[in-house]
Amino acid sequence: MRTIAWFDELSSEDVGVAGGKGANLGELVKAGMPVPPGFVVTVRAYYQFLEHTGLKDRIMEILRNCNVDDSDDLNRASREIRELISGVEVPEELSKEIMGSYRKLCEVCGESEVPVAVRSSATAEDLPDASFAGQQETFLNVRGSQLVEKVRSCWSSLFTPRAIFYREKKGFQHEKVGIAVVVQKMVNAEKAGVMFTAHPSTGERDKIVIEAAFGLGESVVSGAVTPDHYEVEKETGRVIKKEVGVKASKLVRDENGSTVEVKLDAEEARAQVLSDEEIAKLAEFGRRVEEHFGSPQDIEWAIEGGSIYLLQSRAITVLYQEEKGDVGEEQEEPMEVLVKGLGASPGTGSGRVKVIGSLEELSKVEQGDVLVTTMTNPDMVPAMKRASAIVTDEGGMTCHAAIISRELGIPCVVGTGNATKVLRDGMEVTVDGARGVVYKGRVEKKEEERVQVAQAAPKVVTATEVKVNLSIPEIAERVAPGADGVGLLRVEHMILGTGEHPMNFIRDGREEVLVNKIADGVRKVAQAFYPKPVWYRTLDAPTDEFRSLKGGEEEPHEHNPMLGWRGVRRAIDEPELMLAEFKAIRKLVDEGYTNIGVMIPLVQHPEELRKAKEIAKKAGLEPHRDVKFGIMVEIPAAALIIEEFIKEGIDFISFGTNDLTQYTLAVDRNNERVAKLYSEKHPAVLKLIEMVIRACREHGVETSICGQAGSDPEVARKLVEFGITSISANPDAVDRIREIVARTEMRLLLDSVRK
Ligand code: PEP
Ligand code: MG
Repeated sequence: MRTIAWFDELSSEDVGVAGGKGANLGELVKAGMPVPPGFVVTVRAYYQFLEHTGLKDRIMEILRNCNVDDSDDLNRASREIRELISGVEVPEELSKEIMGSYRKLCEVCGESEVPVAVRSSATAEDLPDASFAGQQETFLNVRGSQLVEKVRSCWSSLFTPRAIFYREKKGFQHEKVGIAVVVQKMVNAEKAGVMFTAHPSTGERDKIVIEAAFGLGESVVSGAVTPDHYEVEKETGRVIKKEVGVKASKLVRDENGSTVEVKLDAEEARAQVLSDEEIAKLAEFGRRVEEHFGSPQDIEWAIEGGSIYLLQSRAITVLYQEEKGDVGEEQEEPMEVLVKGLGASPGTGSGRVKVIGSLEELSKVEQGDVLVTTMTNPDMVPAMKRASAIVTDEGGMTCHAAIISRELGIPCVVGTGNATKVLRDGMEVTVDGARGVVYKGRVEKKEEERVQVAQAAPKVVTATEVKVNLSIPEIAERVAPGADGVGLLRVEHMILGTGEHPMNFIRDGREEVLVNKIADGVRKVAQAFYPKPVWYRTLDAPTDEFRSLKGGEEEPHEHNPMLGWRGVRRAIDEPELMLAEFKAIRKLVDEGYTNIGVMIPLVQHPEELRKAKEIAKKAGLEPHRDVKFGIMVEIPAAALIIEEFIKEGIDFISFGTNDLTQYTLAVDRNNERVAKLYSEKHPAVLKLIEMVIRACREHGVETSICGQAGSDPEVARKLVEFGITSISANPDAVDRIREIVARTEMRLLLDSVRK
């Protein structure tokens, strides 16, 4: 075995010699990709170093005597080993070989001292999760004789506490895990980032995701900036999503060859990093690399002087299992696309179209039909339950159809614009709820692997609780084992499911009937989850959702119901309804359900909270004593003066990001024309969230989220970093979010240990 191997001499067979990174670079060169030149200091060099310096036995001795479960002992062992390594010279012969290869590289590059990136490349890296086995050490802008010292530092990185701990727990023998070092010409990047040839969070194989920032790519990899995020349709190369991030700074190489951070002015920070042409070119490289390796890849790239370079590629080891039997993939003939919209609830459903123009037509929908309508409303829920898929003209990811279909596990496409015109009663169609497409013809549904994968995953205990959002009490029992509670129990569907306007009960002197109906629904959930908490949210329905109900003719016509008479503001004007709700809760508390909390929606001033508490007291329900009492933070005003709510007295808050996003960005959440502007990841929304979490933590107030953003892995990760107490996700997302939460917590913990 040689001590040095050039990239073009390596292939995927050489993981044992060159480590995972080195072997993959060899493959990239073979695939004809633009890879900056370089070589690998092989595992043999590392073993030679250990043998010739006599360190091997001493290191093994230290490891044998180390109790890795005792963090002091683990840190001590790591420190001793690393001091041993840094305390000895690299044998002269080895040092000469490394420097000889470096000189050759300088010649190839036509520079007297070419700056190189030096990265560790562990030999166990081909194993899932094994990147832990060898620390990911990287040194940038290394020149001349510094190289040998940096190679030695990479060797030493095999003995960080984290790496030792991981190998021990996974049963790797320390002496069998070697480490190679990749030495590669530095690209003095103007722009750089990462590319995934499948969507890393949703697992969609037909998308390429690119993240980009200015300067060297390390700022993207380390998460120091919010990069631009682009999504490209793999098949056509079409850019389907562009989110320009705020890149507060960039890393550049200064005249001395050192890496320095440069702050960007507001304009540059918000500038789009890649041109459309660059996105397309990069995506094309990504497609070819994936084809070469035969599996989805995670690629680091950089652009210098207008040329694209690929710096690294590795298989994406943890990729969410995409549904098999999805439309398009296994079809011999491509299917004809009838309409497109937003994929709002994943899964595939086929059936006969039933276009619903009015509530009278609901009975048309039979078991297994595809329900097509302008927008669903709570009256449609029974028919939605019968449908194999749902398609709407209007709506975004948080509209009624989207929320309910996710909860029912029915595929759904919203915001098509024209489904009710293009689709006709009786047509046979297939709805792909992940991709947001309706195809002509029927594809028989295969096993729902997605659901199986989720349910097969063992439930890990996380410090941040992972709860579930519910509207339909009947599904509580099914989802209770997997969730730490209910972070949002919506009552609208229970009340509206009665078919009668709730005020009708009051006006007719039948308050008790209404109280019992609410109590019956909430009891089902409180019982299924007992003793885990269930947060009941008091009624919040915009006026337009009530009008079609019996007795709803008097509902006011509002110019903009989203900004109108809903939530707590309506409850204060018409306290009879809220009183009935609190009477229902009182009843359940008397029955022994001590796990109920009450959450007030759409508050914007502490005065509203005070009035809601007064109504609770009228119903004999003492806030904070009988039930936890909290508010939804879903109006920016509430976020901005959160301290005043805390003073007024709250046990918890929950972010209603569906509304918080629409009100912060002035983007109607149900208007598909502006859906592209609707982003819960907008820095302004995240800033409000972070601010509120910080204030609540200071005062010991619990924080949670029950908007759709809680089901988004990227947002969930941020929330855990901000220190949220719990996250409430849609039933279909709970397992995935729990996995993200667990990983994030683990990473934060490891980072704190390493500090
Ligand atoms: C929200 O606004 O995020 C929320 C959970 O409430 P709703 O979607 O019912 O308005
Ligand atoms: Mg809301």
